[in-house]
Amino acid sequence: MSISQLERQGTGMTSQRTRDRLAARLEERGIKNPAVLEAIRSVPRHLFVDEALSHRAYEDDALPIGSGQTISQPFIVARMTEAILKDGVPEKVLEVGTGSGYQAAILAAVVPKVFSVERVRTLLVGAKKLFRKLKLNNIIAKHGDGTWGWSESGPYDAIVVTAAPASVPEELLEQLSVGGCMVIPVGGSRSTQELLYIKRTKDGFEKERLEYVSFVPLRSGKA
Ligand code: SAH
Repeated sequence: MSISQLERQGTGMTSQRTRDRLAARLEERGIKNPAVLEAIRSVPRHLFVDEALSHRAYEDDALPIGSGQTISQPFIVARMTEAILKDGVPEKVLEVGTGSGYQAAILAAVVPKVFSVERVRTLLVGAKKLFRKLKLNNIIAKHGDGTWGWSESGPYDAIVVTAAPASVPEELLEQLSVGGCMVIPVGGSRSTQELLYIKRTKDGFEKERLEYVSFVPLRSGKA
């Protein structure tokens, strides 16, 4: 979708200028993809956090969003989005862990179709409300355990996982199309997670480490 469809609103600490500054900061930190930087400039992050925290929405930090969860740090959101755009624009993207909906909104600004799964119902309801408000009609979000992916709508050209499992779930690898890629934080404890980039080739999977990260755990009914 066109980013011009996104609402450009806010005043003072939540204005367009603060979003522009955040994008400039991420560019300084190494984000190069112009579409990603434009998405950061256009998505009103302050709407994705509690009003009491909106004055901090354009700092490059993770913030609490309730239910013990966090909205990811903008740099990491940008890094993950840039990673899946490396070999061209993926048609169809699956996100695991909708949370506030911010990462999904950034994805929706740069790819045609986003599917997103969230296991905490109240977070999903809040995110869906925002998608409607911002007219992000190319996001389909549902309640469920994303460890299992969303096989009915797959395979996906890219998968973005925003909560960390101890190891990469098999089901997610299976729902990746050949030539597709996944970014996923992996690690048993928050202090030892790695953000992996996994590419599916016709012969198998290639892995690369992008960053050390600290995501909330991927919670699952699985053992
Ligand atoms: N992408 C979010 C990040 C939220 S934090 C954002 O931009 O705000 C990670 C989210 O993953 C949390 O909301 C958490 O509830 C969710 N989560 C954890 N385990 C999950 C699972 N098995 N399936 C789906 N969502 C899960």
